Amino acid sequence: MTARKTAIITGSNSGIGLGIAHALAAGGHDIVINSFTDRDEDHALAELIGKEHGVKALYIKADMSKPEECRTLVANTASTFGSVDILVNNAGIQHVASVEEFPVEKWDAIIAINLTSAFHTVAAAVPLMRAAGWGRIINIASAHGLRASPFKSAYVAAKHGIVGFTKAVALELAEQKITSNAICPGYVLTPLVEAQIPDQMKTHNMDRETVIREVMLDKQPTKQFVTTEQIGALAAFLCTDNAAQINGTTLSVDGGWTAE
Ligand code: NAD
Repeated sequence: MTARKTAIITGSNSGIGLGIAHALAAGGHDIVINSFTDRDEDHALAELIGKEHGVKALYIKADMSKPEECRTLVANTASTFGSVDILVNNAGIQHVASVEEFPVEKWDAIIAINLTSAFHTVAAAVPLMRAAGWGRIINIASAHGLRASPFKSAYVAAKHGIVGFTKAVALELAEQKITSNAICPGYVLTPLVEAQIPDQMKTHNMDRETVIREVMLDKQPTKQFVTTEQIGALAAFLCTDNAAQINGTTLSVDGGWTAE
């Protein structure tokens, strides 16, 4: 059992980030939930998770496309909780278009949120982890950090980039009891993915089960979605002392996608 730590999970009011927040809180860690909105329901969500698991949980608004807000998120967490021991870089967006028609502002936003934000949060958190003599950096990459698909050039570039960043940081910090790893999920059934199913059913004139199997899970050999609970459980394990020697690597949770 690892002692109680403080964790920031970026982009955690939905989907995979929320699953990780639940898993870390269930493991007894205090957590900071984050997104770019500042609604009552965001703060209520943090309060609910805190009560459910008997830990401190706070919602801090910060837009991960803005470097200074990435760094302020870390600073505000440290001033409130006294430390930042676990940093999960999860915030991410997607846009699908051919490379010659890819909107420049979408390219810039994907690189900023999916890649550059992690540089800023890690740079701000590492001095705190060094001082504490312990740390866990977990970057949520993707099967697209290891493989490409057409029409996702910005996303694939950002996710390959974060895999490289993860490894470089691991080597820099290897003797400090700070690990840096990337989780590479395949298709996870998050609200974002769920919302695409009706459109896909219309486009392909297929029922829900067929569209999931033939279109969405085409590359996922198990033909099943990964769950947010499965990603959360892996992140929680990476935060234990038993995971101290898992460092600078990618952990695929993709039903066999990248076995090909
Ligand atoms: P999601 O849309 O449910 O969650 C994305 C989260 O990021 C949300 O909480 C959103 O509010 C937040 N976010 C978006 N822009 C932000 C910004 N500018 N600042 C702060 N927060 C912001 O999507 P998800 O599927 O849970 O994706 C989470 C991560 O997992 C992403 O990095 C994504 O690339 C990755 N991923 C998802 C899948 C999948 O199949 N769902 C597969 C592989 C990797």
